[in-house]
Amino acid sequence: MIRLEDHIREVPDFPKKGIRFKDIMPLLQSPEAFHAAISALASRVERPDAVVGIESRGFLFGAPLALHWNVPFVPARKFGKLPGATVRQVYSLEYGEDTLELHADALRRGQRTVVVDDLLATGGTARATVQLVRQLDADVVAALFVIELEGLGGRERLAPLPVHALLRMPVDE
Ligand code: AMP
Repeated sequence: MIRLEDHIREVPDFPKKGIRFKDIMPLLQSPEAFHAAISALASRVERPDAVVGIESRGFLFGAPLALHWNVPFVPARKFGKLPGATVRQVYSLEYGEDTLELHADALRRGQRTVVVDDLLATGGTARATVQLVRQLDADVVAALFVIELEGLGGRERLAPLPVHALLRMPVDE
């Protein structure tokens, strides 16, 4: 029996003081745990038409999920990385703002997608990604995360979208 929580390393004060960083690298280093995580994520929802992974750790879980389901993988990238025509979504960070992009031809109208990232905190990043998908008239049927930090309102920020997380951790532990 694999306990995924045994493969998450907590790093205090990274990338800055007061943040308890949940490091998923140990999980990636265990093929057994990595496989278990992908299977568990895949079991939470019906096979979609495409998987949208959020830069950059969302790629690490989104791409294997897309292969698992045999559906296209679409990366949501930070501003300025995609070479083709894009749609953009600006979102707020603790200090300032950031922008995510999708290629304008990455999804078709009505395609059912799932949005994937390693961790849900305040939900701002995932919400911007959902808005990007909707800009292309595609649907988001669920958001999938390995870890949900509880107490930051992420799940509420994405409501009424179904949110699935393999591990739920209090923000202050
Ligand atoms: P948010 O937009 O607040 O939901 O933040 C989610 C994004 O920030 C994800 O891409 C996470 O990888 C990253 N993130 C936020 N907090 C943490 C944390 N404590 N440990 C690891 N990654 C985090």
